[in-house]
Amino acid sequence: MGGSVAGLLTAHVLADHADRVTVLERDRYEDGPAPRAGVPQSRHTHVLLTSGMNALAELLPELLPELADAGAPRLAVPGDLGVWQAGQWISRRNPSAPVMAPSRPLVEYGIRRRVVADPRIHVRTGAEATGLLGRPGRITGVTLRDRDGDHHARQELTADLVVDATGRASRTPQWLTELGGRPPAEEVVETGRAYATGAFRADAPPEDLKGFYIVPDAEQPFGTIVLPVEGDRWLVTLSGPRGQAPPTDPEGFVDFTGRLPHPAPRAWLSTAQPVARPVGYRHTANRRRRYDRLGRDRAGLLVVGDALCALNPVYGQGVSAAALNAVALKEALAGGRTPSVHALQRAALRSSRTAWDVATGADSPMPGATGNAVQSGPVARLLDRYLGRVRDHVPSDPVVCAANRDVLFLLSPPHSLLTSPRVLRRVLLNTPVPTTPGDLPAP
Ligand SMILES: Cc1cc2nc3c(=O)[nH]c(=O)nc-3n(C[C@H](O)[C@H](O)[C@H](O)COP(=O)(O)OP(=O)(O)OC[C@H]3O[C@@H](n4cnc5c(N)ncnc54)[C@H](O)[C@@H]3O)c2cc1C
Repeated sequence: MGGSVAGLLTAHVLADHADRVTVLERDRYEDGPAPRAGVPQSRHTHVLLTSGMNALAELLPELLPELADAGAPRLAVPGDLGVWQAGQWISRRNPSAPVMAPSRPLVEYGIRRRVVADPRIHVRTGAEATGLLGRPGRITGVTLRDRDGDHHARQELTADLVVDATGRASRTPQWLTELGGRPPAEEVVETGRAYATGAFRADAPPEDLKGFYIVPDAEQPFGTIVLPVEGDRWLVTLSGPRGQAPPTDPEGFVDFTGRLPHPAPRAWLSTAQPVARPVGYRHTANRRRRYDRLGRDRAGLLVVGDALCALNPVYGQGVSAAALNAVALKEALAGGRTPSVHALQRAALRSSRTAWDVATGADSPMPGATGNAVQSGPVARLLDRYLGRVRDHVPSDPVVCAANRDVLFLLSPPHSLLTSPRVLRRVLLNTPVPTTPGDLPAP
């Protein structure tokens, strides 16, 4: 259920282990990269983190070269970006790792082309899943309706394994309840952050920069990410805290950049030509559904992607997390014996753990953060003070910057910032050296 990045990548992995894989997608696909109704985040900036690039390269080796050929930029971070954090620019001489910035429709189209071409995978578009068949402990299929046919005609499709990849708005918890079962426990951290994204044509920013990333934090709640995408366009995403959403009217959108802690993005944007009206997005809570806790002998249902673990988009992790889910399933299925669904569910959850820890760890101290998974209490406060010191060292210390970047790019778990003696020593014993907060960082 769900033929977007998580559903398609999972279908690709399962095709090696099943007689037949059927993907049910509610939307009709365009014959090319295009935004669609079922993916409301289509027009927003999407970065592929290094970990996600590695995972996609393992699953579909031709994909990244193909995205690059289609014009998706590859950027070194922090080398190519103006990254503002903790009141100053990060030195661009600190060691870099690559990210890619294809548009969201381009990534999905690249994945889709390959998956649809696989004769073992049957994709049914215009097919909306409407419920589950079986009983809570043993799911045996789904009910669906054909969106183009008789809207009320209920069809059934039986399956040995049903995968929910219907995204953040997944209705599986409700469908399990309708079968007489209990829904999974949900863990939530919500900051109320809201986004708006506009597309522009413009020259590159000064100092040979290829974009900006102004990181919001508890003291400075406004953020932006400005990145080039294929088609000679720039995507500009603005974000603000609860109650201070960036406007979507063109003038208000540009005015909002005046709230950013440095004037450089606004100065650059004032030279840019809008090519599309800005669009907003507000469903940004971190929400993890604990299907792994519903019981070991549960069979027939696996949940992946945003339906399993939806993350605040400000950290740019969701597509990478979906790709890491698929790699985890591939590895779990690689042995001779078929693992239980419970083991597969745990593997998928484990593979999104770093993303969850990074997003909820950074969001918990934000003013007004709510939800049952907000980290608070003395240990969380101590940890937050330590991470505050890490942030102060990132701009100028190459070792701390690289360690922190690896965590943000999902290459290392957050606790690596506490267990690396080199990082610990520098963070606790050295005094942070300020970079030049006023000047744009030189290459
Ligand atoms: C503003 C914003 C910015 C983001 N920026 C980034 C970023 O920079 N980097 C990054 O990696 N991630 C980013 N993300 C997150 C990323 O978009 C998601 O994590 C990713 O798309 C999740 O993929 P998915 O396949 O799980 O779900 P989705 O992409 O949401 O797809 C769900 C699919 O299920 C289909 N569907 C829904 N219900 C049904 C049904 N009942 N029957 C059949 N089909 C159904 C939908 O039509 C859709 O195709 C961002 C998200 C937002 C909102």
